[in-house]
Amino acid sequence: MKTILVLGAGTGGIVTARELSRHSGNEEDINLVKILVFEKEETSVYSPSLPWVMVGKSKEEEITERVDKLNASGLEVVKGEIEIIDPENVAVTVNGKQYKGDHMVVSLGVEQTDAFDLRKFGFNFFRLKGAEAFYSELKKFNGGEIAILVSSLPFKSPAAPYEAAMLIEDFVRKNNLKDNSSVSLYTPETGPMEFAGAEASQELKELLEKKGIKYFPNHELKAVSGNKLEFRNGENYSYDLLAYTPRHQLPELIKKSDLAGKSGWIEVDNKTLETKFKDVYAIGDVTQVSTENGAMLPKIGVFARQQAAVVAHNIGRKMAGDEPDQTFVPQGKYFIEAGEGKASETGGRFSATGKDVKMKTPAQLGHFSKWWDEKFWFFKNF
Ligand SMILES: Cc1cc2nc3c(=O)[nH]c(=O)nc-3n(C[C@H](O)[C@H](O)[C@H](O)COP(=O)(O)OP(=O)(O)OC[C@H]3O[C@@H](n4cnc5c(N)ncnc54)[C@H](O)[C@@H]3O)c2cc1C
Repeated sequence: MKTILVLGAGTGGIVTARELSRHSGNEEDINLVKILVFEKEETSVYSPSLPWVMVGKSKEEEITERVDKLNASGLEVVKGEIEIIDPENVAVTVNGKQYKGDHMVVSLGVEQTDAFDLRKFGFNFFRLKGAEAFYSELKKFNGGEIAILVSSLPFKSPAAPYEAAMLIEDFVRKNNLKDNSSVSLYTPETGPMEFAGAEASQELKELLEKKGIKYFPNHELKAVSGNKLEFRNGENYSYDLLAYTPRHQLPELIKKSDLAGKSGWIEVDNKTLETKFKDVYAIGDVTQVSTENGAMLPKIGVFARQQAAVVAHNIGRKMAGDEPDQTFVPQGKYFIEAGEGKASETGGRFSATGKDVKMKTPAQLGHFSKWWDEKFWFFKNF
């Protein structure tokens, strides 16, 4: 029986494993392929809902599921931290034991670290605990300066800080704190979501303006203290409540393997997601993928899922003795929460010009679609 190693039970890993199981003809009692999923965490968090957690619109039990619930249809979760990846031999080591496979799919995401010891001063809303702790403070807030900070580039889900700012503004207004509060967003980016092209970027900027959110692009953090953010351009701003994105880096484990590329991420064939090692693929946030025009693709779950589906399909073909026949096309849509129970659908085909990517006016349907995506994710996968 063939064995496939899926590294990580996050967005890309879960879709890979489920799709592999489907393609290989595994059923409850008849398993034609062994799919081992390696994961260090007990629970899986649905990250697109974290901005809702920040404003009390979602809770832990709604956006998490136990990883061991994935065990079914020839799919087996191996709990523990992967210690070694040996791409040459299509093998990994966990808890001192080596597992060897016929194919391997690496979907280990990014490693989050705290630049400038930010955890002492604010909340990392890219983690469930940080988003929850932010809400605990927001609930008690009597007014003042709320800062959303992008602490470094690149970061996954480039719309998330903007969603956070708009949801917080909504909360502040509904709780009658608007007159004595301000919401500011500081970022080293030159504009919002620039990968989506000038038009979509401008639309998002105008939306922030309309909501009275103060926007500070080209602001790279230099230092932080108890109530002040200091930027490299010489400007300083005070804050009373701070939410930040962490620094994103390639997991240490991959740095130590031969998978790390010059870009600082795993370099793959943009269409097939193959690494330089035979039968080893990498997908999702851990990769560096460029569009046909040379732009870098944003690190978003939509693409991790699509890449997972392509890789699982092609591995299925290979195992059946057929030629792989699918390729990844960077095309997809994404919902940006804008407060007031509305979200904006943004999507199209991603290229260097971004001119095919459109951002729609925020609408209730967009919000409902985002909510439905979360429900369907758990229904389909767990
Ligand atoms: C606040 C926020 C909002 C977002 N909103 C959206 C959105 O609206 N739409 C969208 O498309 N995307 C969104 N994203 C981005 C999306 O969540 C990621 O792009 C996606 O999860 C990437 O999938 P992945 O499989 O590459 O990595 P991940 O989902 O991060 O999975 C990696 C997995 O590997 C595991 N792992 C890592 N190292 C090891 C090890 N050594 N041993 C064992 N296991 C290990 C991790 O525990 C994790 O479970 C958002 C992200 C955040 C933080």
